[in-house]
Amino acid sequence: MNNVEISSRDLNVLWHPCTQMKDHETIPLTPVSKAYGVYLEDFEGDTFIDAISSWWVNLFGHCNPYINQKIKEQLETLEHVILAGFTHEGIVRLSERLVALSPEGLTRCFYADNGSSAIEVALKMSYHSHKNQGKEKGLFVSLSESYHGETLGALSVGDVALYKETYEPLLIRSIQTPSPINQSVEAALDAAKSFESLLQEKGDEIAALIVEPLVQGAGGMRMYHPIFLSEAKRLCEEYGVHFIADEILVGFGRTGSMFACEQAGITPDFLVLSKGLTGGYLPLSVVLTNESVYGSFYCDYNPIRSFLHSHSYTGNALACAAANATLDIFESENVIENNRKTIALIAEELKRFEPFPNVKEVRQCGMIAAIELQGYDPHERVGVKIHQLCLTQGVLIRPLGSVVYVMTPYVITPDELRKVFDAIEFSLQRI
Ligand SMILES: *Cc1c(COP(=O)(O)O)cnc(C)c1O
Repeated sequence: MNNVEISSRDLNVLWHPCTQMKDHETIPLTPVSKAYGVYLEDFEGDTFIDAISSWWVNLFGHCNPYINQKIKEQLETLEHVILAGFTHEGIVRLSERLVALSPEGLTRCFYADNGSSAIEVALKMSYHSHKNQGKEKGLFVSLSESYHGETLGALSVGDVALYKETYEPLLIRSIQTPSPINQSVEAALDAAKSFESLLQEKGDEIAALIVEPLVQGAGGMRMYHPIFLSEAKRLCEEYGVHFIADEILVGFGRTGSMFACEQAGITPDFLVLSKGLTGGYLPLSVVLTNESVYGSFYCDYNPIRSFLHSHSYTGNALACAAANATLDIFESENVIENNRKTIALIAEELKRFEPFPNVKEVRQCGMIAAIELQGYDPHERVGVKIHQLCLTQGVLIRPLGSVVYVMTPYVITPDELRKVFDAIEFSLQRI
């Protein structure tokens, strides 16, 4: 088996995600035969540093020996069981740990099996909880440039035109308030003011505000100051609006703290987690909420007041084993503390891009770095060119339009990190 053979068989039968398949007439696929640590290896023995953590999911490297071991152990005892009326040890332990780790007041875990589905759960739960308390609130607010997934409900509260525009007639009611324009305190306070005006106008109709705390990922790695979160949370409380924190991307240490909400000292009404939850191994997601929301559904049997939502693979035992193993590593290896060294190294590496004439801004939030380019027409598809140039340097980078970002697994070494930024520099000199 070789790269060419796998690619041609693939292109006969597959339809890839987020891809114009005709592009593959000119852009080759990269078949991966195996992966270890930060490396992906193709069928000809070429390796690539996975500098985007395989779409932001991987935390402790590919084929991490400890996580592998824990999944194998789980496989010998229980692979999956229905979660309605049944339970298992792994999910109980995982839920206890998530409740203990997450901001004070989040006490209940509801599971789904991917990020978008968990967003649907949070939106439905918020709407339904208000309804159970006699309030009809059918409008959601999110930030401009936000991204919350691609199922129809999640897409409705997102604001990335590229993914959303076509489906506009199919979407649920949502409205966008401006996101902070940069990482300054002033920008955060300005955005909070705009949100307040919206609440004054439409507060009665609004079920929830949904935000990506500190970093808006797919919208272009836009970053903002934590004071926006504390202000927005305060306003939500004042107007009886739920606060949904979509930490699918930023959770589990990406912004430098275990959860991004910690940096604002807030407890959201809903905390949505996925991606890093299983260390990047298996699909799993969870919505944590408080006793007040939980209590609004808790009553003698009444189908209208119950949350009758489920997914076939809810709470999969193998995924829970991967999640518990991931949390074991956080505990035993003091990850959040150790990442500070990598965060400082990233800041050092970023400096070299500031003088580049084609660089508009460099920014960083914890383990996430972004280099925003300027002067390119969208039709040039500069991101695609950078992606291909970096592959020639043995590094996987996948820019969002003209925003080049780095979000590596936490196990990357200083030498490997330098190689990633060298590859970006190499590509920026050649586009
Ligand atoms: C990836 C992502 C989602 C969607 O998760 P999927 O598992 O891809 O459906 C939602 N919100 C944010 C912030 C994300 O980064």
